[in-house]
Amino acid sequence: MSKPGSAKGTSNKAPAAKKLKLETSDDEPCSSRTPSVDSGFLASVESKRKLCAENILEFKFNKKRCRLLSKSMELGNFGGGVLYWMSREQRVQDNWALLYAQRLALKMKLPLHVCFCLVPTFLGATIRQFGFMLKGLEEVEAECQKLQIQFHLLKGDSQTCVPNLIKKLKLDAVVADFSPLRVPLSWIDKVKESIPEDVPFCQVDAHNIVPVWVASDKQEIGARTIRKKIHDKLDEFLTDFPPVVTHPHPHQTKAKPVDWKAANAYLEVDRTVEEVDWITPGTKSGLLELSNFCQRRLRLFGEKRNDPNVAALSNLSPWLHFGQLSAQRCILEVKEYKAKYAKSVDVYIEETLIRRELSDNFCFYNPNYDNLKGAANWAQETLDVHKKDKRPALLTSQQLEEGKTHDDLWNASQIQLTRTGKMHGFLRMYWAKKILEWTETPEEALRIAIYLNDRYSLDGRDPSGYVGCMWSICGIHDMGWKQRDVFGKIRYMNYKGCQRKFDVVAFVQRFGAKAYPIKGVKYE
Ligand SMILES: Cc1cc2nc3c(=O)[nH]c(=O)nc-3n(C[C@H](O)[C@H](O)[C@H](O)COP(=O)(O)OP(=O)(O)OC[C@H]3O[C@@H](n4cnc5c(N)ncnc54)[C@H](O)[C@@H]3O)c2cc1C
Repeated sequence: MSKPGSAKGTSNKAPAAKKLKLETSDDEPCSSRTPSVDSGFLASVESKRKLCAENILEFKFNKKRCRLLSKSMELGNFGGGVLYWMSREQRVQDNWALLYAQRLALKMKLPLHVCFCLVPTFLGATIRQFGFMLKGLEEVEAECQKLQIQFHLLKGDSQTCVPNLIKKLKLDAVVADFSPLRVPLSWIDKVKESIPEDVPFCQVDAHNIVPVWVASDKQEIGARTIRKKIHDKLDEFLTDFPPVVTHPHPHQTKAKPVDWKAANAYLEVDRTVEEVDWITPGTKSGLLELSNFCQRRLRLFGEKRNDPNVAALSNLSPWLHFGQLSAQRCILEVKEYKAKYAKSVDVYIEETLIRRELSDNFCFYNPNYDNLKGAANWAQETLDVHKKDKRPALLTSQQLEEGKTHDDLWNASQIQLTRTGKMHGFLRMYWAKKILEWTETPEEALRIAIYLNDRYSLDGRDPSGYVGCMWSICGIHDMGWKQRDVFGKIRYMNYKGCQRKFDVVAFVQRFGAKAYPIKGVKYE
C-alpha cells in the first residue's frame, strides 16, 4: 500500500457527489453519453420481434412465468380492461409481464392499461436513482401512448393506488411483475388483500430468464448448484420476444398525460447526490449501449473484465436494475457473437444469467438476504470467532464515505462510486472486503457497505447488490479459505493482489485519489 499522499496529481478534496463524465480508457470508449452506434440496431431488434410472432396471441406464452395470486383467474365482466402494474420492469418491449397483460386483453377484446405507483421515498434512494427512473418512465409513457395503451402514473402507495384505479376504471384483471425483495413483496401482499375478489391477480417473473420459482425450489448453495438447473431450462425459456403491439381496444377515456416536473417535485429525496451525465436513462439508450458493448467492448470482456483501467464491461447494470433493459434481450444479442468471441460470450452469460439469477434465488428464498443471519453457519461461526480480533485500522463511516482512508486504491474506488454512480465490478469486491477489515464488527461492515452502495450506485437496492455485499463480507455462495485475522475463513483480498492484476497507480491517478494518514495505522 502506498504511503499517505503519495499518489501523483492528487487533491485534498473529499469526493464530492458531483457530475463527472465516466472516465474512459485510452484504447476504448467506455460508455457513451448519447450512444453513437447506429440506430439500425433498434430496427434490427424490432424486426426480430416481428419475426418471432405477430403479437403475443400468436406466440406460445410459457405460463410457468406466471403465478396466480388470487383464487381464480376468471376475468371479471366489467369491461374496463387489463392492468399491468409496472414496478421492477420499467420498459414496454421485451417485457413478459406486459406481454401477458396484452395477451389477456387481446383475448377478451379489452383495453390495456399500465400503471406505476410513485412513492416519495424509497429505501434511501436519492435524486440520482429517482431521476434515472423518472426519465425512463417518461419514455415508457410516450411508447404506451403510441401503442394506444393507457399509462397512469399514480402518486402514492400501491396498496391504495392500485385498488382505487381498479374501481375507477372498472378493471377486469391485474398483472404484476416480480421482485424477490422484502418491500416489493410486501406491496404485492397488501394489494392482494385489498383488491376485489372478482378481479384476478397474477404475477409474472419478467426479470429472470428462467423464472425464479422454476429455476429452483430452494436456496441454492452457489453458482455450481444452480448453473445446470438454469442451463437445462434455456431451450424452454431463452426465446425471442414477440412485440407488444398497438392495442386495438382503446379505453373510452384517455389517461391524463403525466406532469413529469410535478412528479419530480413530489419526491422527498436527498438531492445532494446529483444525477450523472455519462449515462442516458431509458430503454432506447440502454439498447444502444448494448449494441456499443457488443461491437466495441465484448471482445475484451473475457480477458480484461477484472482490469478497472480497461473499458471492457457492459456497463448495463443501471438499465437492468430499473428494468429499462431486459437481461434476456442482452443475452440474445451477445450470443450472436459466439463464433467471434467465444470466451467473452461464455463469461458474459455466466455473469448475466447465472450470477444475476443466483442473486434473485438467494433473496427470494432467504429472508435475511441483507444481514448476517442470512450467511451460512460456517461463515457466521468464523466471523464470530474473529469478532474481537484487532483491526489493522478502525475507520468511521464518515471517513469511508468521504474516501479518506489510508488506502489510495480504496479511496479512488469510493470516488468512482460517489461521482459516477458506478464502481468497477472487480473493485466492488475489494472495497466491501476492506470495510470488513476496518470496522468494528461484521454487522457494522455490512450495514455501511449496503448504505454506501445503495446511496451512490445507480444500480443499488438490487438483489445483486445485497448478494455482492454478503458475498464479500460473509461468504455467501463462497467457500471457506485459509484462516486469518478478522476475516476468519472468509475470502481475503489485498492491495498487493490488486497490484498484480492491474495498474493501481493509473487507477488512483484517474480519480485524483490519495491516501490519508491515520494515526497508528501501519501500511503494507
Ligand atoms: C460489494 C458488491 C456490491 C454490488 N452491488 C451491486 C448492485 O448494487 N447492483 C448490481 O446490479 N450489481 C451489484 N454487484 C454485482 C456486480 O458487481 C455488478 O452487477 C456489476 O459490476 C455491474 O456492472 P456491469 O453491468 O458493467 O457488469 P458486467 O461486468 O458487464 O457484467 C454483466 C452483467 O452480469 C451481471 N453480474 C456481473 N457480476 C455480477 C455479480 N457478482 N452478481 C450478480 N450479477 C452480476 C450484471 O447483471 C451485469 O450487468 C455488486 C457486487 C459487489 C461485490
